Amino acid sequence: MSAEQQLARLRANWQAVVEQVAHAATSASRTPQSVRIIGVTKYVDPEVTAGVIAAGCADVGESRPQQLVEKAAALAAAPPARWHLIGPLQRNKARRTLPVAAVIHSIDSLKLLRYLDTLVAELGVAVQGLIEVNISGDEAKHGFSPSELLRQAEALAEVAPLELVGLMGMAGLQSNAAEAQREFAALRTLRDQLAVASGLPLPELSMGMSGDFTEAIAEGATMVRIGSRLFEGLDR
Ligand SMILES: *Cc1c(COP(=O)(O)O)cnc(C)c1O
Repeated sequence: MSAEQQLARLRANWQAVVEQVAHAATSASRTPQSVRIIGVTKYVDPEVTAGVIAAGCADVGESRPQQLVEKAAALAAAPPARWHLIGPLQRNKARRTLPVAAVIHSIDSLKLLRYLDTLVAELGVAVQGLIEVNISGDEAKHGFSPSELLRQAEALAEVAPLELVGLMGMAGLQSNAAEAQREFAALRTLRDQLAVASGLPLPELSMGMSGDFTEAIAEGATMVRIGSRLFEGLDR
């Protein structure tokens, strides 16, 4: 596959995802603009990542801090992208990650939240954070349990300058479409309760991936994290 064919394929895949997301939004009586697509590029190298950005994807997600930092540096000269960290952040990687990542989706403990808040103040950077919630109860998944998070509502209200904007969650590995949709609905309800209890607006819901973004959008997702769909038909 030539570089040109590869780029054409990336553009076609991106357009198809944009259309499907828009369709899911309008089917749920929402505007397409109310859903931001985060292109998850953890599967591909910087060159293909640059192709995704060139195709129109302005928000890019990586699951490893190291790769996020390296790719952001490699692509600094390309069209500007907003970098999202969607996987676990170890404390010893935070100092290097925060100046590059605009949004951290994966804050999975109070300890990490407070540490990031201190670092944001020290570094003087603007960063948005989402709290990761284990909505499926899968043992292997990271994140707060819903009841634990509700108990911490007051602690969340004290966080600043890190800007807490919402919640992130993943459907269970074994969940079918109907179960995934119920898990997403539960995350939205939790967000609503937490917004009241903390006094924070919490407008963002990061939920939905390649296989379940339609269900997530039906339940109010404002950010969908889509990876594999973008790279279909590419040899990589
Ligand atoms: C890899 C990953 C995604 C994207 O998954 P796809 O099924 O490839 O779309 C989304 N969110 C997180 C947290 C991920 O690690």
